[in-house]
Amino acid sequence: MAKTQITIPVFVPHSGCRHSCVFCNQWKVSGSSGQPAVEDIEQTVKRYLSKVPPTVKRVEIAFFGGSFTGIEESKQQMFLRAAEGFVRMGLVHAIRLSTRPDCIDNEKLALLKEFSVETVELGVQSFDNSVLAAAGRGHTALDVYRAMELLKGCGFRTGIQLMPGLPGDTRERSIYSADEAVRLMPDDARIYPCVVLAGTRLEAMYRSGEFTPLDLEEAVDISAQMYSRFTANGISVIRIGLHPLENSSSVIDGPYHTAMGFMVKSRYRRNVLDSLLAEHKPGHGSVVNLAIPRSFCEEYIGLRRGNMDYLKSRYSLASIEYHAADTDRPFIIA
Ligand code: SF4
Repeated sequence: MAKTQITIPVFVPHSGCRHSCVFCNQWKVSGSSGQPAVEDIEQTVKRYLSKVPPTVKRVEIAFFGGSFTGIEESKQQMFLRAAEGFVRMGLVHAIRLSTRPDCIDNEKLALLKEFSVETVELGVQSFDNSVLAAAGRGHTALDVYRAMELLKGCGFRTGIQLMPGLPGDTRERSIYSADEAVRLMPDDARIYPCVVLAGTRLEAMYRSGEFTPLDLEEAVDISAQMYSRFTANGISVIRIGLHPLENSSSVIDGPYHTAMGFMVKSRYRRNVLDSLLAEHKPGHGSVVNLAIPRSFCEEYIGLRRGNMDYLKSRYSLASIEYHAADTDRPFIIA
């Protein structure tokens, strides 16, 4: 599908961070080697704008990789002024940024309003306080509830980022976190299964045997359940898994995969088909004819037909035939 929206990332690695979270190494994730100057921001934006395909109707500038509202005010103003120039020229539609939940107050939000920031994403990671403590986050779930109330009260679009698989996390805690996030009704969500990156405290915990990351299968399965909660409530999941890293040797262990987004969505679709078949109760050795939504065919079928093979074996079927159809939900053709 042709792109209709692009986000121009401007990385401010670890800027404004009050704590060093055990899993985080923004230098590796962003591939940046320092903080951007105004000229760097302008050049980055111009470079992206020069390559915007004609299908794109909306362009955002996004400050990622740090705790934006924790940065000293004069620097925030400098960054925002550089971005806002493009909004004023009509070349960019909006500004978004990410920050910590405990770095939000009315004064900070007034500054963002001054520069027409539209969306604020909170790095939440978990709603379980024991997981937050083990991850060295330095805030509690209460900070998230407070921050979301302030953000919504000031009319910002909001985003929540969650990270299943942190130290002390469990499947139940990850799903509880997704449910709590849904209760707060952000506009967007991101799911980043936790991976062990080089140079983090998590790497030391992993090497000492104190931490074991999720394997790929667990991460896909848990993330699919989280994804299903967001989509069922109309919250758009705009990212699953880390962006492809420049140097994949930065990943020491854990569920890093460049196709993580597809794998999670495809697992979610498989779960939908599984429920459908469980309800239909096809006989052993029978042939099932499925109509699947045309727009999500690939996700329903799975990588190398993986979903179809799984279901065929799970229900001991002779075969599964499938056809793309103009439907929102899959159904069984009698
Ligand atoms: S996770 Fe966020 S708050 Fe923590 S160190 Fe990384 S950028 Fe800073």
